[in-house]
Formats: sequence, C-alpha cells, structure tokens
Amino acid sequence: MDRIDFDDEMTDDYIANTGVNLEASEAVIADFLRTLGERPEREGLKNTPKRVARMYAELLSGYHTDPEKIVNGAVFNITYDEMVIVRDIEFYSLCEHHMLPFIGRAHVAYMPAGKVIGLSKIPRLVDLYARRLQVQERMTRQIADQLHQLLQPQGVAVVVEALHLCMMMRGVKKHDARMTTSAMHGAFRTNLATRQEFLDNIGRGAEPLRF
Ligand SMILES: [Zn+2]
Repeated sequence: MDRIDFDDEMTDDYIANTGVNLEASEAVIADFLRTLGERPEREGLKNTPKRVARMYAELLSGYHTDPEKIVNGAVFNITYDEMVIVRDIEFYSLCEHHMLPFIGRAHVAYMPAGKVIGLSKIPRLVDLYARRLQVQERMTRQIADQLHQLLQPQGVAVVVEALHLCMMMRGVKKHDARMTTSAMHGAFRTNLATRQEFLDNIGRGAEPLRF
C-alpha cells in the first residue's frame, strides 16, 4: 500500500483518543463523492476520503478534549485584581449549518478574584471550543462560561470577530461577512467603566479582519 503523507501532526494514538471511526468516515465520504457525480476511484481522488476523514478528526478534535486537562496545574492563587486581557487570539472553526469555516480572532479578559490562569492556556481554551461544529454566539458564550467556572473571577468578557465563508462563498455572497459577538459576566456586565476599558483596549490598533 502507498504511504500517504497527510501533512498533519496527528499520531495514531492521537486519533485513537479522538474516538473517531476513521474507516466508517472514509466510506461515507467516498459515497458522498459518488452522490456528487464523482468517481472516488480516479487518480486525483484516490486518497481524498482518507485525507478528509482525518482532516475532520483534526478540525473537530474539540469534542474530545477535557478543559480541566488543558488547564492542568496552570491555575494559580495570586492576589491580583487588575484586568487581564489576551487579545487577537486567532481561531478557525466550522459553522454547524454548512460545515464551512468561520475564521477570526477572539479577545478574552477577566478580573481575577484570587485565581489567575497561565496565559498560554487561554488560546488553548479558545481552540477547544473552535474545534467543533459551532455557531459563533455559542462559542463565545462557552469560552466565557468555562473561564468563569475555572477561575470564579470578578468578571469575564469575551469578544469574537469572525468572517463566515458560508456567507462569502454562497447565497448572498457578502464579501465582508464579518460578525462580532460578545459574552460578559460579572464586573464587565455591571460596571460600565470596566467594560469600556476592555472595549477600548481591544479596539486599539486593531487591523480589520481579512482573509
Ligand atoms: Zn454557515
């Protein structure tokens, strides 16, 4: 059998852990190609079902990742009560209505109440929810809720800006199909100055989203 270079970083162990049945998935993708009038046997498509099955296992790996494991040991008890902001976190997700990508950036802030989280963990939490079939509103809310649950902070705010390929490639073909969603908890909801400080910060020097 040919050795296929999948050009991804998924080991066999990793795939086994996702719980995805790759063989079943490959068969369905080959059938799907047939329903489109294609011949999955032809040279160019020969390995496509395998590649696509593997790709979805990667793009949708967020179902199988435990947030507690991601955070593992990176929550620290520290007396610090100023706003912590991580902005411009790049993410790639798939809309659950069309299974087409929506791509953008997330801005996450919280006001600690005795607990802080290692900064590198916040982009990983964003990925965990991006790598699912999503709607942007729910993804935004899930990131905020997860952080709220992990840290019990004075407040959490998440703003997500994204471009939706399903609006750009099809239907009305809006080429600037940019959407902004937000979720606010605690101080970001009740204190106007806090919310404004966050919004001013993420607005500063931001480049417009584009592909
Ligand atoms: Zn869509």
